[in-house]
Amino acid sequence: MSTPVVVAVAPGSAGERAGLLPGDEITRVDGLRPRDVIEWQYATDEADVELDLVRGGLELTMTVPKRAGEPLGVEVQSAVFDRVRTCDNHCEFCFIYQLPKGMRRSLYLKDDDYRLSFLYGNFTTLTRFTEADLERVITERLSPLHVSIHATDRDVRNRMLKNVRGGMSLRWLRALLDHGIEVRGQVVVCAGVNDGDVLDDTLAGVLDEYPELASVAVVPLGLSKFNNEPAMRLHTPAEAARVVDIDERWQATFLELLGRRMVFAADEYYLMTGRAFPSAEQYEGFPMHEDGIGMARTFELEFEGRAEAATGVRAGFFAAVDLPSNPAAYTGLRACGDHAATSTTVRLRSGRESTAVLTGEFGARVIEPLISRLGRTDVRVLPVLNEFFGGNTGVTGLMTGADLSRVLAAEPPGDRYLLPDVCLSDDGRFLDGVTVADLPRPVEVVGTDGISLRRALGEAT
Ligand code: SF4
Repeated sequence: MSTPVVVAVAPGSAGERAGLLPGDEITRVDGLRPRDVIEWQYATDEADVELDLVRGGLELTMTVPKRAGEPLGVEVQSAVFDRVRTCDNHCEFCFIYQLPKGMRRSLYLKDDDYRLSFLYGNFTTLTRFTEADLERVITERLSPLHVSIHATDRDVRNRMLKNVRGGMSLRWLRALLDHGIEVRGQVVVCAGVNDGDVLDDTLAGVLDEYPELASVAVVPLGLSKFNNEPAMRLHTPAEAARVVDIDERWQATFLELLGRRMVFAADEYYLMTGRAFPSAEQYEGFPMHEDGIGMARTFELEFEGRAEAATGVRAGFFAAVDLPSNPAAYTGLRACGDHAATSTTVRLRSGRESTAVLTGEFGARVIEPLISRLGRTDVRVLPVLNEFFGGNTGVTGLMTGADLSRVLAAEPPGDRYLLPDVCLSDDGRFLDGVTVADLPRPVEVVGTDGISLRRALGEAT
């Protein structure tokens, strides 16, 4: 078990007044070893906290005089100090199995930890959830949690997770809902496995057994060119259309019976089928924006000046998985737009030189019509084909340095290039480890939302 290591101390904070320093390893808070930042937060929230720590090999004890509820003002290195709980499933659709070799070790971590679900919105299958976990979730009100459902039929869920406890573990979902924990569900749809009639049954099962769920995100599986599972394949257009049809039919049922739509198909399904995105109202406040649901519609609202603030950015498939080696300190729950404030933002210019907006293939299909409505001949959208991962990885968050380098090298040197921050980790690296400075053209990093893009283009906001 590791300990919280201080990486920054806020000036003027209780921690600074007491003399805490970056590098201090906190071994105990009021005599207890916190297992994660949740316990750390509770413990350091008390008045007059006593800390046991190791500094330069020496053991010290200090009392931090403070009021109850006053922040300690200390950032620590990671979110979990004991081991991140990993999953015991072997899903054929798992994207981690579809990664090329040689990427950062942390990207291969198959986490299935309810704490990361609470802190970062990671989905957990609950196959390793225990009675003690349930007790902690209830006692500490760790809500909302995010649960991968995939299928409510036990046998189908067993098969999809390749785990005999797969179906049975949904009893924990029932228990969480019974205790008033908010749960957001997800169904990863695999063509020929849990689409069609199985998806229909799953949504009927949600209505029958788990109607208290806050929402259910229906998303397509991600396939890379490194996939070795022959049963995993892309949807045909007809299969994708059926997913949208089933989703919309069940939305109407849920709306009638529960007063809310409950189930939402990912933006990718609307792009795959060429159908118009649902209206903003139909997304009911965009609760699943981070899961890729309603992003196109919010981007449009933001870009056209019809939203006062950005809804947030999708942190990218790996952002939370990448925690253990993330050098950025844990500073609390990440607020929307935090990344934009901390990324390697280059000074934005407002001139009318030729500007290219870099984005993934899916993003290009959303942004191009918006740019074209501006009537600006000096702005173009530059889609970046994802050759690094291949498959259906068209989302902007998976853009890599290698693909951006290839695209930028073929572009004129004097133009402006705008890069959405969603494809960068907090330390300014793409998933393949390349940094912004390694790219063959200078780029300006902007927030991944319509307001930031509009501002970067010098348009009135
Ligand atoms: S539960 Fe998640 S991490 Fe584990 S194998 Fe399945 S997809 Fe991969």
